[in-house]
Amino acid sequence: MIREASSRSALEISRAVNEGQLRLEDMANAALESIDAGHKVLNTQVHWNRAEVSDSLKEQIKTLESSLRSKKNLPLAGVPFLIKDNIMVAGEIASCGSRFLSNHRAAYDATVITRLKAAGALLCGRTNMDEFGMGSSNENSAYGPVRNPWNKEYVAGGSSGGAAAAVSAGLVPVALGSDTGGSIRQPASFCGIYGLKPTYGRVSRYGLVAYGSSFDQIGPLARSIRDLALVYDVIAGPDPLDSTSHNLSAESSLERLSAEPQDLKGIKIATVREYLGDGLNPEVHAAFQRALEVYKSRGATIVDVSLPLLKLAIPTYYILATAEASANLARFDGVRYGVRTQDPNLSLKEMYTRSRSEGFGKEVKQRIMLGTYVLSAGYYESFYGKAGRIRAAIRQELESVFKGGVHLIASPTAPTTAFRLEQKTQDSLSMYLSDVYTIVANLAGLPALSHPIGCDSQGLPIGLQLMAPMFDENILLRSALQYEEQERPDLQPRGIFA
Ligand code: GLN
Repeated sequence: MIREASSRSALEISRAVNEGQLRLEDMANAALESIDAGHKVLNTQVHWNRAEVSDSLKEQIKTLESSLRSKKNLPLAGVPFLIKDNIMVAGEIASCGSRFLSNHRAAYDATVITRLKAAGALLCGRTNMDEFGMGSSNENSAYGPVRNPWNKEYVAGGSSGGAAAAVSAGLVPVALGSDTGGSIRQPASFCGIYGLKPTYGRVSRYGLVAYGSSFDQIGPLARSIRDLALVYDVIAGPDPLDSTSHNLSAESSLERLSAEPQDLKGIKIATVREYLGDGLNPEVHAAFQRALEVYKSRGATIVDVSLPLLKLAIPTYYILATAEASANLARFDGVRYGVRTQDPNLSLKEMYTRSRSEGFGKEVKQRIMLGTYVLSAGYYESFYGKAGRIRAAIRQELESVFKGGVHLIASPTAPTTAFRLEQKTQDSLSMYLSDVYTIVANLAGLPALSHPIGCDSQGLPIGLQLMAPMFDENILLRSALQYEEQERPDLQPRGIFA
């Protein structure tokens, strides 16, 4: 019952609403019901207040009804939507999964929110995340871990774990996450759904609380490629409010999906030699090889390339991303933003220090210390400077593969399936290795997509990642659609409410 209304696809919902066949109140109530039930079991939401969301939905429905009367077709009409807790919605708390910002109400809408609203989406709440996006399991949230809908003893992945679990459990058809080093694709893979990290600059970051500004991108999570394309089309495109947004207009990728040839003849997909060795779980490896056979059967050619610099991706990322994070998080001091310490007998400096010590969680502190260290005068050149040069070299290495006629680079999305809650919390390094395949796209600014390719012997989902040249999101969507249509992977976790 709970899943019925909102387990429809976003495309079906918007079609039905635009044709007047679905009442917005019914849609909103069904969504509220399922989010409430799902959150209780999986901890997908933060600041969840059903009555408040219900009031806000009534207002949103009024606005939407008047736009539906004046406009012909709204691409996301009546589609229930969840957004990650680091995306600002005017008047709502945007806490980034942190205790420090638990009192921070956003003063304006992020550009993606303005676009979702204009497209007719119904915003139904905010999803749980690793604090400031720092994590790969959603266990670094001040609001508790998110559970994986496929097995509640396992992590949902991170940092957009709440968004991924909510979409996977059928609470909503689509959600927005953000991806700095894999945070859309890795939880999408762990929860058996689709996730897209667009090209850097394709989607406006205005109103996204910055973690690593040169890496961050907002992107959609969904249960089908067409829904992914539908949302991507709404949020992509130039924005004068974000100086890093690219002025290339995005064409409708959804329309293109229907116009494209229905096979992959002439498409060359590369696998990376260095990726398929140590650390890759054998079941994930086997599923990946099987998926490549599916791509071959659709007409694609598979080639093997060597990218020796990729072994430096993780250290390079953790130097650059923590450096950027330490600068971005400097503004949270309990004065300009954040909860101030209650201790009245402190000097100004002690008040800043104490507020930050009380407000930030352990992982965030670790990253700030690492980031300030690599930026400090004596070490800047040997860490930050060098990492910047390696980043440029990695980008060139990838460019040369694409220039050599390769259209896509394929890999597993993550080296393993979801792991048990608390299994890796004491071991930062093994946690950081979860992102070994995803981080590269952020270092190079490339678009990348994760799609489900089946489950391991424990019934946990496995994902495959495709990475494309800059601004070629279309080839990602088109190729993954071929896989989806041929294989129809099982997306339905069972027993969530048991
Ligand atoms: N897991 C990576 C990190 O902790 C990536 C997170 C992200 O993409 N936001 O930095």
